[in-house]
Amino acid sequence: NWEDLKGDVEFKDITFYYLENEMILENFNLKVKAGQSVALVGHTGSGKTTLINLLSRFYEPKSGQILIDQKDYRDRSIHWLHKRLGYVLQSPHLFSTTILENIRYGRLDATDEEVKYAAKMVGVDDFVQHIDKGYDSFVGESGNLLSVGQKQLISFARAVLADPRILILDEATSSIDSESELVIQKATQKLLKGRTSFIVAHRLSTIVNSDLIVMLEMGKIIEQGTHDEL
Ligand code: ATP
Repeated sequence: NWEDLKGDVEFKDITFYYLENEMILENFNLKVKAGQSVALVGHTGSGKTTLINLLSRFYEPKSGQILIDQKDYRDRSIHWLHKRLGYVLQSPHLFSTTILENIRYGRLDATDEEVKYAAKMVGVDDFVQHIDKGYDSFVGESGNLLSVGQKQLISFARAVLADPRILILDEATSSIDSESELVIQKATQKLLKGRTSFIVAHRLSTIVNSDLIVMLEMGKIIEQGTHDEL
């Protein structure tokens, strides 16, 4: 269901501030080809979230343009944009229901088979098989019966099911054991495959595997390139 969107994204000569006398981005430029994954790195306050806010159109540029498939995103509706953007956030919100229903939240009309297919893709299936009620197991209040890594995988499955052309991934900073780390790493690659993605990246593996690394400092790109180049 991506017929109408390739997924090229361009930030073109963007100027942006939240407060009149506090410039955040000035002549900011970034060109991302369809399907590429971009790791956004930089200290707190460097502007990572601001870029995501602008791409999501929670805020609009003061000047310059954000182009999606070479077309200013303000030429279309916010609804159009939000149907094509997906989010995987740091601490995913889980509902006090089953694993199956928590994944289905990505696309409410999905069949059980579609939900399970998405779950398999990112490795949810591997741990679900070992619990008594499988996909019908309750996750507990806000998912407290699951580990941090399991919650993350469920949110990945949700995103795979929703199948957005452009994905925003705010990578979790929480530390997990090295085995789960590997599972998450593999799942991340599956999730990103074929999508244009913007990742507020915290894991070295994600940064290494991304097509483009953008290092920000006070709203400016200080370095940009692939892992090999930097
Ligand atoms: P973090 O890693 O802490 O999330 P970040 O790289 O995402 O940081 P931003 O949140 O984009 O950084 O912040 C960039 C600058 O914009 C900072 O100086 C911040 O104080 C400022 N800023 C962010 N949001 C607002 C807001 N709603 N109103 C005013 N200033 C803001």
